[in-house]
Parts: sequence; C-alpha cells; structure tokens
Amino acid sequence: MLDIIIRNGKIIDGSGNPWYSADIAVDAGQIVEIGRVNSKAKETIDAAGNIVCPGFIDMHAHPDLTLFYKEVQDYKLRQGVTTEVGGNCGFTAAPLYPKTSEQLKKFMAFITPPTGVDWGWSTFKEYLQKVSDSSPATNLVPLVGHGTVRIAVMGVQQRAPTQNELSEMEMLVDEAMEAGAYGISTGLVYVPGNYAETEEIVALAKIAARHGGIYATHMRDEGENLINSVEETIAICQGADIAVQISHHKAAGKLNHGKVIESLGVIQNARNSGLDVTIDQYPYSASSTTLQAILPPWSQEGGVEKIVERLQDNEIRSEIQNQLLNSHGETRMGGVLDEILITEVKSHKNKVCVGKTLKQLSDLRNQESIDVAFDLLIEEECAVGMVNFSMSEDDVKTVMQSPVTMIGSDGLYQVGNPHPRVYGTYPRVLGKYVREDEVLSLETAVRKMTGFPSQKLGLHKKGLLRVGFDADLVVLDPTIVKDQATFLDSRQYPVGIDYVIVNGQIAVADGQFTGTTAGVVVSKNR
Ligand SMILES: [Zn+2]
Repeated sequence: MLDIIIRNGKIIDGSGNPWYSADIAVDAGQIVEIGRVNSKAKETIDAAGNIVCPGFIDMHAHPDLTLFYKEVQDYKLRQGVTTEVGGNCGFTAAPLYPKTSEQLKKFMAFITPPTGVDWGWSTFKEYLQKVSDSSPATNLVPLVGHGTVRIAVMGVQQRAPTQNELSEMEMLVDEAMEAGAYGISTGLVYVPGNYAETEEIVALAKIAARHGGIYATHMRDEGENLINSVEETIAICQGADIAVQISHHKAAGKLNHGKVIESLGVIQNARNSGLDVTIDQYPYSASSTTLQAILPPWSQEGGVEKIVERLQDNEIRSEIQNQLLNSHGETRMGGVLDEILITEVKSHKNKVCVGKTLKQLSDLRNQESIDVAFDLLIEEECAVGMVNFSMSEDDVKTVMQSPVTMIGSDGLYQVGNPHPRVYGTYPRVLGKYVREDEVLSLETAVRKMTGFPSQKLGLHKKGLLRVGFDADLVVLDPTIVKDQATFLDSRQYPVGIDYVIVNGQIAVADGQFTGTTAGVVVSKNR
C-alpha cells in the first residue's frame, strides 16, 4: 500500500519538455513510480485534465523569520511553492553576535513577524536547528547574508573592514557554509552592504565558492547605474570563481525603462565567455522593501537610532531632503515618492497608514509627502514596509522571456498589506503571463519555477519529476489558475492550485491548506 497515487494527470516534469500522460506514485516522501501505476494507495488524487508538476522552488523568498510565525503558513503553499530560498539580499537571521544583536534585529525588522521569533541562536548552525525544530510549511534552502555577517563583526559602519575584521567575516561565512548554506548573498543597495567595496565581496564569495556555493546579489543599483552594477557582479563572479544569481532583475525608474535589453546583453556576453550568471524575477512592475532604503546611504550609518537622530535634526533632515529625489521626483530606489504605498508599520497608532500612498497620507496628515516619509521612519523606528512603483511592464516581459531567467517571488511576508507577490507570484505567471498574455509556454514557465532553480542551487533531488526524487508536487488546473492578490488588497489566495504535496505529505487539498507543515531544512551537506 503506497502513500499517494496521482492518476491521469498531464505531467510537466520541470525540464522544459512537453507534457505527457502518466500516473505518479509517492511513498515515504519520495516519488517511487511514474507511468501506468497498478498499485493501490491510501490516498488517490484524480488529476484528469490537470497538470502535475514539481513543487515550485522560490528562488528569492525571505522566509528567514516569518517561518516562525505560526498564525499563517499557507501563503506560499497555496501558490504551489514547496521550497523557499532564504537569506537573500544580505539579510539572514544568523550569525547573531551578542555585542551587535540589537543592530541585527533592527536590520531585520521589516521582515520580522510580531510573534514567534525567540532569537535563541548564535551560530548559523544553531539557527538552522531552530528552523528544523519549528517544522516550517515549506522547505528552506539557506543562504548566508553578507549584511548580517558584516553587522555581526563591525556593526553599521561606513568604512572598509580591517584585515582582522575581514578574516572574522570570512570565518563566519565558512561556518555558515559548513552548516549547510548554499551560498552567500548581498544587498549592495542597502546599508551596510552598500558600504562594502567590491574586493570585500570577492573575498567572502571565494569562501562560499570553496564549498561549491553560489553568489546571489541584490545589486548596488538597479536604476541609473544598472549596467555598472551588472558589470560589478560579473567582476565578482570572475574574481571569486563563483556561480552568480542576480536577484529580482529590473530597471528601476522611468528614465531607465528599457535598459534591461542592454543588461541582458551584458549577462549573455558574460555567459558566452564562460561565466555562470543567471537571474530571477518576480512578475510585477512594482518592488517592495523597507522605506528606509530611499534614504542616502551616508544618512543610514550607525543604524536605526542614528537615522532617527538625523531625521530629528532640522539641518541634517533638510540635507537628506535635498538629496532624496532626482530631477524626475524619483528616489534612489526608482519610482515617484508620492506613489509609494505603505505596507507595514509596527505601532498601533499608524495602522491607518497601511494601504495608503504617501500622497494620500500627505493629504490626510496635512504634510508634504517627504515629511510623512521622514516622520513615519522616526515614529516607527524605521520598521516601515513599502511598495514602490518603479518598473515598466514591457521590461517585466522582456526579462521573463530571457532563457537565463527563473522565477523568485521576493515575497517577504508582512502582517499589514504586503506586496501582492507574497500571495500571487506563481499563479500570476501561470495565469497572466502564460495563459492570457502568452509570454511563455506552460512548460517553460514551470521549468523557470522548478528544474532551473534546482539546477542552479544544486538541489539534487528536487525540481524534476523523477523516480527517487523528493515528493514535492503540485496539481493545478491550467485553464483557471490565476492570482487574486492586488496592491490594495493583497491578502487574497489564488485559484486553480488544487493540491500541493511537500515531502510526500498533502499540505494543500482542494485548494485549501490542510494544516500539515512538512517542510525541512535542506542542507547543502545532507
Ligand atoms: Zn532584494
């Protein structure tokens, strides 16, 4: 008696190959048979008319702390995601040093849920153990974040590390890789990542490369200096001899729309010269991050207390204000200040701001938008989430069609009204971009969500439907699959994702979360 048999489905195996008809049998967490299955099982799923494919691997997910938040665990599952890559953009929950722990917690504030996180770890290994003990809803593939490592050793200082500090950072990266990380990430637009020169990153990426890890990067600039940033990334790839993943590729800011054609060309040239550079993307023309990121990097030195102090000092505040916007009224993150949508605050009194734009709040509070932004940062001690309308829809399609692009949600969960990608990324690609706009074939889209990320990360038993692989599976209806989350009402589940199986256990049945959380830490050394 097997655990599960999925009968009569159209198999899309994650390799990009065209679909074929077969049954799939699952037992003890693994795929045990594909073809005409004559055995019997405890559970039989009739997938007639539906697609059966590998569980989606979210290449860029930020689940690092929200996976401890037990109130909700189904927003990724119900999209078909069974594995999430954590630790992107330089943000990881470990290592956590006592002397800089407060700074790290503030750095992580905008991706920290209100409850469930006990911060009871110090090393990367201890953190992974805590994740394991918490039985997450999806599998975690960890990266170690450069921002976190830098804060552990040097706090939030705008200078190069001393030789000793660099050695200590190298040691921490080595320790994380040893504990099972799949690579190192940077967020070079954020502080303190922004304070690091290229050589510092190369030195640390070399350590990850020695363990066979990858380098994932939120680049220094995705707007005016997009091409320079891609070139810096390629230099790191070459200097550290490491495979590279460029995160959430885009051209931010109206003046830069269309630049992705050039950036994709630079990436293709690098590949032609033998460098392993690939990218990921979320299917939306607005980004989302911490509001603090719009401030000039110098004004963020020292962390949250210092930022608040500077914003309270009228002279420094007006200096920041003078540098905040370019001649088109856009911030350093691209996108017009007035259009920024507030997605999350910590305090009760500012809950009313969630789901409103800075322009709406400016009318409501009778203040300039810029002052609303600054005052919110002060009142919330910088724990403010935002959505930023910075991209063009044509660019989104251009990047999606590139053969080097995989899908990653960048879906950082927030309790307020997060970016709709948290609930909608995968069904949106399958509904809007495959079925409606015909930007991709279904098989290609599935490959970008499964076999391709698995190959990049080196997840040897995930991302394809093969006998002996982990039984992470999705059954979906290609005729109706669709996202329902919008910018103003983002906490809406998709339709058309009928079954999701994680490690051989049914986590979603008939489109509903079953309450089963069968995720594990996928350690590079397992
Ligand atoms: Zn990022």
